[in-house]
Amino acid sequence: MSKQVIIGIPAESRLLDNAYRNSVNQADVAAVVKAGGAPVLIPTREPALVTRYLDVIDGLLLPGGPDVAPRFYGEEPLPQLGMTDALLDESELTLVREAVKRGIPIFGICRGIQVINVALGGDLYQDIATQFEQPVLQHFQNAAMTQGTHHIAIDAQSRLAAIVQADGLLVNSHHHQSLKTVAPQLKVTATASDDAIEAVESVADDLIVAVQWHPETMFEVDAQMFTLFEDFVKRVERKSVEYV
Ligand code: MN
Repeated sequence: MSKQVIIGIPAESRLLDNAYRNSVNQADVAAVVKAGGAPVLIPTREPALVTRYLDVIDGLLLPGGPDVAPRFYGEEPLPQLGMTDALLDESELTLVREAVKRGIPIFGICRGIQVINVALGGDLYQDIATQFEQPVLQHFQNAAMTQGTHHIAIDAQSRLAAIVQADGLLVNSHHHQSLKTVAPQLKVTATASDDAIEAVESVADDLIVAVQWHPETMFEVDAQMFTLFEDFVKRVERKSVEYV
């Protein structure tokens, strides 16, 4: 058996017992391992150091997490903005821009889709409930994250449709922000019925797939959700073979 590809996952820092602890969700780790990858955690409190990690990883998984600080897309914070961490933002924005330059495949989840969009020149709604002109769905669900709660429509021509073999899905939802202006390198591949953007992918290649929901909390009970991790690791394996 060939060696597993190395999947970098940026670690969120939280104050615990008066010290910053670097962590990622075990669900992300478990999904990558089941798909055949070997996860490594990337510390994010030293943004100047993060590009070094791109020398040792084959793929980049951007997980869920806090809001992106709006100054990174040219806005002042609104009252509804949630918790932010500028060091996490700087680290992840740098990782995305440099990974794209180097042709390293990326999979984005929840905050991850937002970080990718901002890194490549797009922006966000800081709070969809107060900023959408149309009525919004409940995107911060009051249900277990193993369960889907709202539907999305998927562009039949997209890579996402080919991955999950469907033109719609029931997804979970744990976000109060969403993509507003989409970066030029990306195209929208799925939306909710209130027009909230739920998935994007890269236009010119297969380097980027990103979703607004949390497949890592559903993959054990929903086979379609696992296909996203399988596809990610396959994209990484195809890419890493070229450098052997
Ligand atoms: Mn949603």
